[in-house]
Amino acid sequence: MRLVPRVVVLCLLLGGAGACTADARPSRPEAVDPLGADEVRSEAVRLVAEREAALVAGDRDTFLATVDDDALQFVATQARWFDNLAAMPVGDLRLELAGEGSAGDEDVEDDDDEEGELHLPVDFTMRLDGFEQRSVTQRLLYTFRQVDGEVVLVDDRDAEGDRRAGWLPDPWDVAHVVVRESGPILGLFDEETEPYATAVMSDLRASRRTVLAALPDWSGKVVAYDISDLTALEERTPMDVRETGGVAYPVPVRPGSRTVAAHRFVVNPAVAHDGLQREFLLRHELTHVALASRDDSSPRWLTEGAAEYVSRSHLPAEQQRLMAAYVLAYLGDPAPVLTDGLGFYADADASYALAAVMCTYLVATRGTQVLWDLMDAFTAARLRAGQAGPLTAPQVDAVLLRQVGLDQRGLALAAVAWAAAGG
Ligand SMILES: [Zn+2]
Repeated sequence: MRLVPRVVVLCLLLGGAGACTADARPSRPEAVDPLGADEVRSEAVRLVAEREAALVAGDRDTFLATVDDDALQFVATQARWFDNLAAMPVGDLRLELAGEGSAGDEDVEDDDDEEGELHLPVDFTMRLDGFEQRSVTQRLLYTFRQVDGEVVLVDDRDAEGDRRAGWLPDPWDVAHVVVRESGPILGLFDEETEPYATAVMSDLRASRRTVLAALPDWSGKVVAYDISDLTALEERTPMDVRETGGVAYPVPVRPGSRTVAAHRFVVNPAVAHDGLQREFLLRHELTHVALASRDDSSPRWLTEGAAEYVSRSHLPAEQQRLMAAYVLAYLGDPAPVLTDGLGFYADADASYALAAVMCTYLVATRGTQVLWDLMDAFTAARLRAGQAGPLTAPQVDAVLLRQVGLDQRGLALAAVAWAAAGG
């Protein structure tokens, strides 16, 4: 993630509820005999298949005909969701009843409750075609109700289950998305951020070239979100959302899985729409995307410092050193102390600045490859130690001494002295 260098105004836009366009249900002349539980269940199963076929075929009317048209809000969000998927490059669309006996199923209800509703867990799968190799599956909870002898869907989520699973909405779940594709870049915007889409896409293309120069093995494929709903950003940043320029994050193939389908990133519109900050922010986040899991075992100063370094790597080396000297002089601490873990973000200004200076110094004295070699060495050390958690400070020091001849403290001091001598 990237720190915003100065306070930005939080721009939280509360979206409208959307149009309620349901037709009045045609009145039925006579009462209809209610269906039995087995009939309701088999009808619900048929509706799941019908919805999947309609999604794949792009048949909006059939898809919406499965929804209770008295549930006005739900009809509106279902229509928006369908339209979003239709506008996006999606493949491998599937809606499947969650298999009995598979992991996590014990959490989900599959029964008639006291109100005569039927709850069925359904797995929704899709892939962002052309941008990501793997599909992503999420668990939905369909609620069916019998209305005038007809089975219809009245809800597709379970707030409690979503909270337990740590589910965070994607743009297509919370907004009417505006889709922009440019070669290997997929940008998702909403109606509020659309006016900035052209500028953001243009800077994404330029930023991608800079990051590819530093990390030539990267596929260069990017999925980026720039939307007004800040929930996904807020829940993923350890900092105040106003201080957060953006966050890159792994997307598991299904909630709780350790298998990663892709790395995506979300930007804070208040920062991404500021022309001065945007390019640095995009290069920083794209570096996280390009590195994917490669820096997962690295200390925080290396993951954030490397991203900061790449965000300035288009500048001449002298200017990079001047920037380092300037920032250190501004912070005014001749012997700054490194903090790893979440403590890194407690004094984020100082931490990001020191991390950037350390990585810029390493590259200036040893070449860009030193950063990626260090990340690989930390990964190997953690594998050798067979530990699930992060490396301890002594373990980090041992790797660093072997790779560059300095421990963390020595590296910080050397980097600060190098920057000061150049400024
Ligand atoms: Zn970052």
